[in-house]
Amino acid sequence: MDHRQQIDQLRALLEASHRAVVFTGAGISTDSGIPDFRGPQGLWKRMKPIDFGDFIASDEVRQQSWRQWFEHGGALREARPNSGHLAVARLVREGPVSAVITQNVDNLHQDSGVPVEQVIELHGNATYARCLGCGRSFQMPEIEREYRETGRVGDCRDCGGIVKSATISFGQAMPEEPMRRAGEETLACDLFIVLGSSLTVYPAAGFPLMAAENGADLVIVNEQPTDMDPVARLVISAGIGETMAAALPPEQATLH
Ligand code: ZN
Repeated sequence: MDHRQQIDQLRALLEASHRAVVFTGAGISTDSGIPDFRGPQGLWKRMKPIDFGDFIASDEVRQQSWRQWFEHGGALREARPNSGHLAVARLVREGPVSAVITQNVDNLHQDSGVPVEQVIELHGNATYARCLGCGRSFQMPEIEREYRETGRVGDCRDCGGIVKSATISFGQAMPEEPMRRAGEETLACDLFIVLGSSLTVYPAAGFPLMAAENGADLVIVNEQPTDMDPVARLVISAGIGETMAAALPPEQATLH
């Protein structure tokens, strides 16, 4: 099947679907200038992942983590949504997509117009921070101001608790509520579309398999092969933005 036929099949699956889920990984954000954490140019080459236990135990580790973020996290902080994100946002707005499950922490689905309550973040969100004691949220510009002025990020002013980016770190439990919602959406859909994930990180990668086993059509759009390709109805090895834009119906001029 050539690329044209693949696009036609994806369009037909979208038209036939009553309820779809989009599942995204790093590959959807590379066109926004965010390097795949695991790729050869990966952010992890420069930003060492920090273990949750070490972060809690040591102020030195905490400060090192903030230093990495403010000195090397620019690509993530300044990224804007690309055509792939915009296509997904249209599928949420016009149907049939009911939820976007993402492994990304970049907030680009929300930035592209997907309502916050329809984005399920499995690995948290790096664009704000939270006190581990009282749960208070802090916007990153606020934290950055403190870092630039004092060279460090202090504890919560309200309760003295540890302030951490709202991401899920290594060694930190998967967030219960998003995991539960992701499972519910996965079992409720008839079409499950993976965009830009190598599907190697568990338990997140279990959702496409769960969808396929439940009878949903599984579509995978990813530059490289994945372990789930054998159970997928359709595998497209091409760019996400071009593929999704081509599969969508032409944008209607607003007449009303
Ligand atoms: Zn607090």
